Amino acid sequence: MRVTFLGAAGEVGRSCILVKGEDANILLDAGIKLGSVEEYPTLDEALLKEIDAVVVTHAHLDHSGYLPHIYSKGFKGPVYATKPTFELINVLVSDYLKISNPSGVKKGIVQQMQHHYNIVEYHKEFGIKGLKVKMVPAGHILGSAMIEVHDGRNRLLYTGDVNFRTTKLLDPAYTERLAADTLITESTYGGDADIFPSERSVLNKMAMSIKETLRSGGSILIPSFGVGRAQEVMLVLDDYMRSGGLPTVPIYTDGMVNKALRIHRHNVIYCRDELQKRILLNDDDPFKSRNFVPVDTVQLRRQVMRGNPPGIIVTTSGMLTGGPILRYMAHMAQNERNKLILVGYQAEGTRGRALLEGARSLSIGERNVDIKLAVEKYSLSAHADRPQLLHFISRIKGLRNIMIVHGEPEKSRQLMLSLGRRYNTTVPLNLESLSI
Ligand SMILES: [Zn+2]
Ligand SMILES: [Zn+2]
Repeated sequence: MRVTFLGAAGEVGRSCILVKGEDANILLDAGIKLGSVEEYPTLDEALLKEIDAVVVTHAHLDHSGYLPHIYSKGFKGPVYATKPTFELINVLVSDYLKISNPSGVKKGIVQQMQHHYNIVEYHKEFGIKGLKVKMVPAGHILGSAMIEVHDGRNRLLYTGDVNFRTTKLLDPAYTERLAADTLITESTYGGDADIFPSERSVLNKMAMSIKETLRSGGSILIPSFGVGRAQEVMLVLDDYMRSGGLPTVPIYTDGMVNKALRIHRHNVIYCRDELQKRILLNDDDPFKSRNFVPVDTVQLRRQVMRGNPPGIIVTTSGMLTGGPILRYMAHMAQNERNKLILVGYQAEGTRGRALLEGARSLSIGERNVDIKLAVEKYSLSAHADRPQLLHFISRIKGLRNIMIVHGEPEKSRQLMLSLGRRYNTTVPLNLESLSI
């Protein structure tokens, strides 16, 4: 097999890896990079003509957002993913097309893409022209998968985005009996300093901080990835309210968070056992809590912005690159009683990253908005941290080669250095090709 990185090498975003077998050319992921400018994988029309199929690890746009582009360019091959991944792709990609309106993407393309969807089950092998492919749970978001590719001689494992902790929603990534001679791993939190404290202690601190703000009459804004983090945060807050750890206030949800919540609800068999049992045996459906209030009218949105009564707002986008969060910020950021809580990764060049680094003014639309509200960050990451990545790598049988992607270059390099000489490890560049 030969592997070429068309994106996500030395960066977080536009994941797209070309795997060439003897007869087959497949893409692992087809993502875009969202930021001040939108960036795409390096995939010209000639190369696209040679692609037989795309296999997508999960629905986040940095792994799936290029699909409407390639189908608009006339690609006719199949795309493989799990059932929830396709359902979430429909929501995320439609939203992205509506907001970004990227050039070259045909109208109605999401509808046309459906004809090419091939649903795969976890652990069930399928073939693409001589390559054997299998997806196993990645614990990152609903339906997320790691991908194994086997050509009869060599075995490649690609993590996509991966999490080894049990979360409110999901079981951790599947790590039993993993064997591969080559691993392509993400390294979002692979840096020396990326050692997460226990989730419980992070959540307790976050709850204390929220309580303090609510007590003083302020509201909380939680920008979040619409899929995964948002639902996780909602369930966590609801639990604290039920157990008295937080005062009961409305948890307002705006934008695609609500659609994604419904997709979680009807794909609950992809969630962790405990959640399934709560719904099936106890008739206690955490997805339908009375504390969740969808913001579905202009009047309600205005009321929420006035903070009367105070509440917690969970909405997109997670790095403040777009979405309803910007409208809330434009109205609520000048009030020092309010608080913004960041819960996920903040890429370089985004408003979220600027706030994290202490920016006291943000440009939103045409205007500059003064930032008077407090900004705090709690690491509720859906990614593995460095110790977890190292432990995972040490458990893969027969591993010889490691390619580190999906990370800021410094973090990927630090992960490489800590792996020592046991493996043949590289941090490839985009367009670099490696034989395995
Ligand atoms: Zn992801
Ligand atoms: Zn990603």
